[in-house]
Amino acid sequence: MKQVYFKLLCLLIFVIAWVLLPDFTISLLDYVGIYSVVVLGLVVMTGIAGMTSFGQAAFVGIGAYSTGWICTYAPIVQMLEGTVWISLLPWLGLLLGLMIAGILAWFLGLLTLNLSSFYLPLCTIAWGLSFFYLFGTLEFLGGHTGMTGIPALTLGNFNLDTSRTFGIVIWLVLFFFIWILNNLIDSREGRAIQALKSNRLMAESMGINTTAYRAKVFMLAALMASTSGWLYTHFQRFINPTPFNLSASIEYIFMAVIGGVGYLWGAVLGAGLFTFTKNYLQDMPTQIFGNNVSTESIIFGLLMLVILQYYANGLWPRLSRQFNFLGLAKKEFPFGKYLASDLSVRPTPDLGAILLKAHQVTKRFGGLVANQSISLDLKAGEIHALIGPNGAGKSTFFNILSGVDASSEGRVELMAENMFGRPARHFAERGLGRTFQHVRLLKNQPVIENVALGAHLRGQCGWLASMFRLDRKEESALRVEALKQIRRCGLGGSENTPAGSLSLGKQRIIEIARALAGQPMALLLDEPAAGLRHLEKKALADLLLQLKSEGLGILIIEHDMEFVMHLADRITVIDFGHVIAEGTPTEIQMNPRVLDAYLGVSDETIGSEV
Ligand code: ADP
Ligand code: MG
Repeated sequence: MKQVYFKLLCLLIFVIAWVLLPDFTISLLDYVGIYSVVVLGLVVMTGIAGMTSFGQAAFVGIGAYSTGWICTYAPIVQMLEGTVWISLLPWLGLLLGLMIAGILAWFLGLLTLNLSSFYLPLCTIAWGLSFFYLFGTLEFLGGHTGMTGIPALTLGNFNLDTSRTFGIVIWLVLFFFIWILNNLIDSREGRAIQALKSNRLMAESMGINTTAYRAKVFMLAALMASTSGWLYTHFQRFINPTPFNLSASIEYIFMAVIGGVGYLWGAVLGAGLFTFTKNYLQDMPTQIFGNNVSTESIIFGLLMLVILQYYANGLWPRLSRQFNFLGLAKKEFPFGKYLASDLSVRPTPDLGAILLKAHQVTKRFGGLVANQSISLDLKAGEIHALIGPNGAGKSTFFNILSGVDASSEGRVELMAENMFGRPARHFAERGLGRTFQHVRLLKNQPVIENVALGAHLRGQCGWLASMFRLDRKEESALRVEALKQIRRCGLGGSENTPAGSLSLGKQRIIEIARALAGQPMALLLDEPAAGLRHLEKKALADLLLQLKSEGLGILIIEHDMEFVMHLADRITVIDFGHVIAEGTPTEIQMNPRVLDAYLGVSDETIGSEV
């Protein structure tokens, strides 16, 4: 079945149900919609971007109280009484809520988002609690008793004061959010967001400012929570602090987890299951556990254990697999329409120009000196190999050359600019591409998405453009470029395969394709041939020679001596962090220090680090 028909059918069922279902069920559905908006934000923040927040209910409270306050604030209400302006107050309330939530989220984000592991969730608990107590203590917000007499939303002459009428607004808002988030995830910015969870270091090397992206995602989730609070207030028409406490925040996470924390529709499923189950559980006789125990919490706890035991990723992925027979496969991307030439192109440097230069780089890890005063340069149109035994300090040096790590002493120049103290993304901006010895890919994503991530800096469309699908032309160009690099690296045909399901050798090649998609001038490859078979190695060598002829400077760490000796123009040998020799392959092969320190060891040792 085509996607459009399926969507129309769902919509039709929804409309019929909306007319026919009893009032009570409709009001439950309204709650499902209101909760789903918060949970959607959590899905993006936690499931996709990898940040956990136990404080979302506080942002819901901010949205709820902002509109509650402005709609009941006597001086304003009296002034506008009887005019048409009074019906605009709820909208003003929405704006106020979004503004306060947005600003607060930005500040809280800056303060807490770089905390690691469980410190971030702990912090969110702390500020979630403090907002809750604030709502209860502020006199002008009604203290613990709350606020009443909040007006319903009116649109022209329509008073949306029933669950059936206001529910339409709720579900329209929800569908709107699902639409824009779906678009966002499926875009250049979405790729960057998906890399935040497990691969921040790699994302920075692709030019992505991960701190800023995390703050933006955090803010987006807060804005959605605030919108949900606004809906809640005009639905209930009275508010008190209770629905915005810590246990509400935990319930939102619960909904996200049972629905499937990586899936947008999982949010709606989780919120639906939660709301309806809770409603039925509330009617359960209290005899079982006694009056003082909240039966539903116990049952929910057990339910969560059971669900997670069987469906670790939540229920949505399982359910959507069940509907596979409908054939709702993703639409083919319109590749043919646009050409990669729409993307920004970097001017190529003159052959022989120095691209990258290390001056006396020293790196210490505590007492261990991994690099000792290493100097080296890389020219346009050459292949420079860096060799040395395991633990010699090669990968450490690469990290310094690419800004992933800072040197203890000495400096690195890229395109004649001193890069000391600069983050990895600035290296990427100036034309440096790299691969990692320990492959860093988004393993569940298709190869093409992984490679397109490398072209991140060549696109410009931002979040809003992505949300409203104004980025399609550029996105198409990015994918065409990614596809071109995939084919060029010999991986044509596997563009839609999840990267993690290819062999490790091929995954290394994906990393090369990803680096090439960024159109680098200097390319750093950390053991690219490890795990490749003979013919694959030959293809890789051909590719590198072709890149060299196009004027790229390639610095390569490699253990396969035959491969290196045939390929490299120059070789630098390091041992125990020191440069012990530099020269052409022939010179290196005859250098007694090298033979002694490196080539003297048996073949097994040389090839063992794979
Ligand atoms: P190579 O890539 O040449 O095999 P590495 O650069 O990975 O060597 O490692 C060089 C030395 O530095 C090794 O002794 C390694 O244990 C040490 N080392 C690397 N990274 C770190 C780190 N983050 N902290 C402490 N020691 C490290
Ligand atoms: Mg290494």
